[in-house]
Amino acid sequence: MTTINEAVHWSAELGGGTRVALIQAGRFRSDAGALLGVVPRIMWNDLVASEIDDKHRIVQALNCLLIETPAGRVLVETGIGDRISDKARAMRSYQGPWIVPALENAGFDPGSVDAVAVSHLHYDHAGGMLLADGDLAFPRARFVAQLAEWEIAMGDNPRLVAGYDQPELSLVRDLGLRGAVTGEAEIIPGVSVVPTGGHSAGHQGVLIRGTDRTVVFLGDLFMRPWNANPRWVTAFDDFPLDSVTVKAALFAHAAEESWTIVLSHEPVHPIGRLLRDRDRYRYEATV
Ligand SMILES: [Zn+2]
Repeated sequence: MTTINEAVHWSAELGGGTRVALIQAGRFRSDAGALLGVVPRIMWNDLVASEIDDKHRIVQALNCLLIETPAGRVLVETGIGDRISDKARAMRSYQGPWIVPALENAGFDPGSVDAVAVSHLHYDHAGGMLLADGDLAFPRARFVAQLAEWEIAMGDNPRLVAGYDQPELSLVRDLGLRGAVTGEAEIIPGVSVVPTGGHSAGHQGVLIRGTDRTVVFLGDLFMRPWNANPRWVTAFDDFPLDSVTVKAALFAHAAEESWTIVLSHEPVHPIGRLLRDRDRYRYEATV
């Protein structure tokens, strides 16, 4: 079987010794209607026709980034991981390789990762922090999420906690609280997290700046090409009005400064850029 990793292989030099590589940590399926949120089906039906299955689900890749700089290595996102029950695995049609073998396949030692930054703590982004036996998958890495995200994830609001695997998160909570940040923060020189909210209360983006080029990863604010319209947000977004506002602001920067975009769940064309298109934007895949 051709793995998704072989189908989409991308890395780029950003200048100044900074390099970014896309690592796909498997894929799963998710309900198309939930992913397209409040957008009427007639507007998106054709966009997903080739991948939708008999359960109305589409393919979601688990896109991660490995960033190398002279100051260290940062992994962005960890995917679903390996500690998922067979029942949940089947229900979500989840297929690996999960992040640890995916990194090894790409030639990176998980033990060399200095920091792991996740856009948010939903199960499909923070699920790969532990090995099957419960040991840390990235033993020397700082674990960077927003403190506000931890507070929501471990809270008791029934609507807000739905996307989190609280028993799993509780196993890495101490590590997470030690590495948590509040607001914009530079993890290592050239790699910053920027709080966005919207999709979840403590959602954040990651900005990687080399001397020649900037790459941005906006987590689940920008999963698939159609999210280039700031109003196209998912039904999973806890604060959709915030998503629309923050997307419009970040997209303006991305378009003006020609940032390279990495989409969080796009399986086939995850690398691109944003172009202004009337009152919205258009995603143009470059890979
Ligand atoms: Zn997600």
